[in-house]
Amino acid sequence: MPTIEIDELRCKGCGLCTIACPKKLITLSEQINNHGYTPALFQETEIKCTGCALCAEMCPDVAIKVFK
Ligand code: SF4
Ligand code: SF4
Repeated sequence: MPTIEIDELRCKGCGLCTIACPKKLITLSEQINNHGYTPALFQETEIKCTGCALCAEMCPDVAIKVFK
C-alpha cells in the first residue's frame, strides 16, 4: 500500500502539502514541534494514499518521503 512519511523536524508547517494532496490526507498538527512550527500530519481514513507524490513535490523543505 502506498504511504508517506513526514519528517516532523524538517517541516515548517507551511501547509502546502495539505493543499496539494488530492485525497486531503494531510492536516497541520495543533501541537508545536521543537522548532516552534505546527507540523504536517498524515492520516488515512477509508480514503487511502495513492502514492501520487504531489505532497512531496510541493514541499519546499523536502520533508515528505513517499513509499509506493
Ligand atoms: S502521495 Fe498523494 S495521495 Fe498520498 S498523501 Fe501525498 S498527495 Fe496525498
Ligand atoms: S509542505 Fe513540507 S514544510 Fe510545508 S507543511 Fe507540508 S511537510 Fe511541512
